[in-house]
This record gives sequence, C-alpha cells and structure tokens, in this order.
Amino acid sequence: TVTDEFAYDALPMRVIFGVGAVHRLAEETRRLGIRRAVVLATPGQAGLAEQARGLLGGIAAGSFVQARMHVPAHTVVEAGQAATQLGADGCVAIGGGSTIGLAKALALRHGLPAVAVPTTYAGSEMTPIWGITDNARKQTGRDRAVLPRTVIYDPELTRTLPVHVSGTSGLNAIAHAMEALYAPDASPVISALAERGIRDLVRALPAIKADHTDITARSTALEGAWLCGACLGATTMGLHHKLCHVLGGRLGLPHAETHAVMLPHVAAFNLTAAPAARDALRRALATVSPARALAELAVRLGTPRTLKDLGVTGPALPGVIDEVLAHPYANPHPLNRESLRALLQNALDGSAI
Ligand code: NAD
Repeated sequence: TVTDEFAYDALPMRVIFGVGAVHRLAEETRRLGIRRAVVLATPGQAGLAEQARGLLGGIAAGSFVQARMHVPAHTVVEAGQAATQLGADGCVAIGGGSTIGLAKALALRHGLPAVAVPTTYAGSEMTPIWGITDNARKQTGRDRAVLPRTVIYDPELTRTLPVHVSGTSGLNAIAHAMEALYAPDASPVISALAERGIRDLVRALPAIKADHTDITARSTALEGAWLCGACLGATTMGLHHKLCHVLGGRLGLPHAETHAVMLPHVAAFNLTAAPAARDALRRALATVSPARALAELAVRLGTPRTLKDLGVTGPALPGVIDEVLAHPYANPHPLNRESLRALLQNALDGSAI
C-alpha cells in the first residue's frame, strides 16, 4: 500500500531500449571498460550467442552456451573456468532469466561486470536477486554487486520467443508488478511503474498471440516487462511469489507456467485486502474485476490454467501449505491453513474466479 511514508532506492543501471539496440552491444560493453567479454547463453540460443560475438568483434573473448534453468552450481563453476581460461574481464548475457542468472552468479563469485540483453519477459536483469542451485537446494540472496551494469532491450530479439512462452513469461512479469503494488516497501515511483507495466503487457500480449512477429506489440511488451522487472527489483514480494517458489522447488514445476496459473487466483485472494493495488489494477486492466480479467487474459493467451495441467495432484498440497506457512512474511491478506487450502484447491481445479 502506498502511504505518505516511504523509502526508495534507485538501482544504478543503464538501460538502452529500441528496435535494433543490440547493434550497440560493442559500444556499450566497451563503455564499461570491458576489453574481453565472454558471451553467455543457453544451448537453445547458441545462434544468438554467435551473433553477439560477431557484434562484439575484437572484444569478444569467446562464449559459454551452457546456461541452464535454476543456475546449477556446477554450471557456475564451469562458466567461471571458461571465463578464466578465456581471460575474460566481463560478460554479455544474452537470453532469459536462466542466462542472466548465470551472469549474476559470475558477478558474485568472480566479480565480472555484465551487460544483459534480455530476450524474455522474466525481468531478472532489473533485480539484485541471485540464485544458485546445489543438490536440488536453491540458495538465493540480494546483492547489488550482481546487478548488470547495462541492460540492452531490443524487441527484435523477442520476435522468436514462442507464443506460449511469451504468454507465460508476460504473466510472470505482471505478477511482479501486482505484488509490488501491495508490497510493504511500495513507493509512488514503483507503483507508477507497476501500473504502466501491467497496462503495456495486457495490451501487447493478445496482439503477440495473434502475430508473434508484430514488432509494435513486441516493443510494448518488452517495455512493460522492463517496468515490471524494476518493480520486482525494488520491493519485497508476497504470497504469489512465495507460492510459486514453493511449488517450483518442491514439485519441480516450470517457472513461468506456475506464475501464469497462480496469478488470477492470488489476485482474487489478495486484492480484497489491498484496495490501492486493486484500484491500480482496475485502471491498468480497464475493468472493475481485475482478478477475473487476468483469468480471461490467460484463457485468451492459451497458457496453462490449472495446477492439474502442470501435473500437480491434491495430496501434494498440504506439504506446500506447510512450507508457505513455515516462514511468516508480509502479505496484505492474512494467511491461514484454511484460506491457503481453498486458494490452492481453486488453482488445482481451475475454479471460476
Ligand atoms: P529461461 O531463461 O529459462 O528461457 C526459457 C527458454 O526460452 C530457454 O530455453 C531459452 O533458450 C528460450 N528463449 C529465451 N528467449 C528466447 C527468444 N527470444 N526466442 C526463442 N527462445 C528463447 O526462462 P525465463 O522465463 O526467462 O527465466 C526463468 C528463470 O529466471 C527462472 O529460473 C527464474 O527463477 C529466474 N528468474 C530470476 C529472477 C531474479 O530476479 N533473480 C527474476 C525472474 C526470473
């Protein structure tokens, strides 16, 4: 809730946005004093990594295209060794949250500065949050040292993002902004970004579904994702992110899909207790029932609707509830076992909102 009292820390990052902005990669990398950059990417984006090397020209030291979901500890070690062997003094992370997560781990462990070139809507590039997974345990933390120094957003690179991933990743971004609106550390700056980010994504995602190469829609969505990512980086997330984290960790569910399924249900639950956030969502979605509108958006986008769609069964829920309740955290709607059970049961079955 936005009150008259707030604290706001601006995070120090340079943002370059525009169709074709990736062509500024060498100039922007050099601007940071990087002379030998290692390019990071997932195996699926090896071609893009190659393109980035080409753009970097003489300051490309090589590439490491083994970035993986959840940043496995062994991947961090291997990437660190590769960077050392290549004599790299910085990195260029081109891809989604998994690749940018690896760059953050390298910043943490090896002090390597990074240029991030995001190609999904996850928003990790805007946050000081890092995570490394070892033996199925994900350790996370906040450290400004992991922030990319420069972020280059080029909507052109998102044209290849499959429609399905665009939808789930976009709903993931909307969830960041929704929770920022009712965060204990909300501020007018972040609430303004959140409302604008949600509005952009809600407008752009159906247009992307209709034509995934629509560059205007891609541009609007990426701008929205940037703003929503900035919300995630600046505030403390509530029940939605906690639930998705626990569901993902305990049951191995896919990140963006889990967010997509849970978002309308948590909105229905939390917005009754967060009037300022509800009003902002009403404006952003141009409706009196934002939770229902988010559920309808998911239908239009064809993203998974229920936890059952993700393979979850009823007996898994009590363990999830125990874990969510084990560590108290701020949430506008008070939490108890019964209300959480009802919320999760609705998400399991896809009950109407
Ligand atoms: P991702 O990075 O795993 O990418 C998903 C897949 O899409 C990958 O196979 C990738 O190669 C492919 N892909 C990405 N961009 C593409 C494009 N433009 N065209 C074609 N294919 C493309 O997924 P994500 O949703 O971006 O990120 C999820 C991960 O990021 C999770 O592990 C999550 O925990 C993390 N995350 C972290 C933060 C944070 O603040 N630390 C924030 C958000 C997400």
